[in-house]
Amino acid sequence: MEIKTTQQIIRKPLIDKYGRKVRKLRVSLLEDCNFRCTYCMPLDATFPHHSKRISPDEIVRLCTILVDYGVSEIRLTGGEPTIRPEFKEIVTRLSDLPVSKLALTTNGSRLQRLLPFLKSSNLTSINISLDSLKADRFNQITNTTFFDKVIEAIDATVSAGFQTKLNVLVMRGFNDDEILDFVDFSERTGVEVRFMELMRIGHACHDQDDQLVSADEMLDIISTRYELEDRDAAPDSTSINFKTKSGASIGIIASETKPFCGGCSRWRLTSSGQLRPCLMKTDGHQIAGKNDEELAHLFEATLKMKPIGRIFEVPQNMNEIGG
Ligand code: SAM
Ligand code: SF4
Repeated sequence: MEIKTTQQIIRKPLIDKYGRKVRKLRVSLLEDCNFRCTYCMPLDATFPHHSKRISPDEIVRLCTILVDYGVSEIRLTGGEPTIRPEFKEIVTRLSDLPVSKLALTTNGSRLQRLLPFLKSSNLTSINISLDSLKADRFNQITNTTFFDKVIEAIDATVSAGFQTKLNVLVMRGFNDDEILDFVDFSERTGVEVRFMELMRIGHACHDQDDQLVSADEMLDIISTRYELEDRDAAPDSTSINFKTKSGASIGIIASETKPFCGGCSRWRLTSSGQLRPCLMKTDGHQIAGKNDEELAHLFEATLKMKPIGRIFEVPQNMNEIGG
């Protein structure tokens, strides 16, 4: 459906020549993080000055316009989105948008204290990253001592009634021996667990050949103990979804071995206001401060930039792009 604005700019759905419709927007609130996950960024990572971030006003304005163009799901990410000082303001204001899903991806370290606030907002879906169920190992991977805090936050998030998923990045020699434990965890808690392949992104590229555990390998491991049944997934889903007879919900995000570019419906907005058509692209268009007419042209141009096949690797770290 076409919508005419007061400036008479026609905001029509963003569909590229392959028929892919932009429906989902990842919004990175900042590049900074209080973790140093080994695959994501170096220990001595530095971050842009906070003045380089686009303001809450600009985030809300751009999201509002993109929703008019057909975006129906917005996920906040980073870096660690919950450490942005204006996090609550941004969530509150985005809660007014008519989207079907307002979601958050977080390391969980600051989540528990935010839950009462989040419960009063329209943010209903929370993905928490947890790469190990063993405290020592978790702390080693993340270079923190936050294991207990994150586990408590997961419990509290589920109890508070949020749609909760765990993101588990599977790495050979680090946590691939915990795949069955995570399936158990899903069975016990009802929380969906999504196993992710390690992608050739920034800091991870160096070890990716050695550490990648493919979706097929993960499935082989899970099938040694569980019988898996397919679960339905949206055509633009990034995960292959299963359930076990005993109630575990499993997703596998096979970005490396079974990329889903052909059905991809995502754009990304970086914390500095660049619109990117793909996680694997370092170029995009600066859209902060642009008026309606300029945005219409930049959206057209961004549609044309979306690759149809998987780009091999990207030099930028995940926290800089917005994971
Ligand atoms: N800080 C938040 C968190 O960790 O959930 C949000 C940002 S983080 C970059 C988002 C997700 O990206 C995390 O689940 C993390 O495991 C994943 N990630 C980071 N580097 C990755 C890589 N090289 N390949 C695949 N996933 C990666
Ligand atoms: Fe931080 Fe998330 Fe990157 Fe870990 S994966 S360092 S929590 S941004």
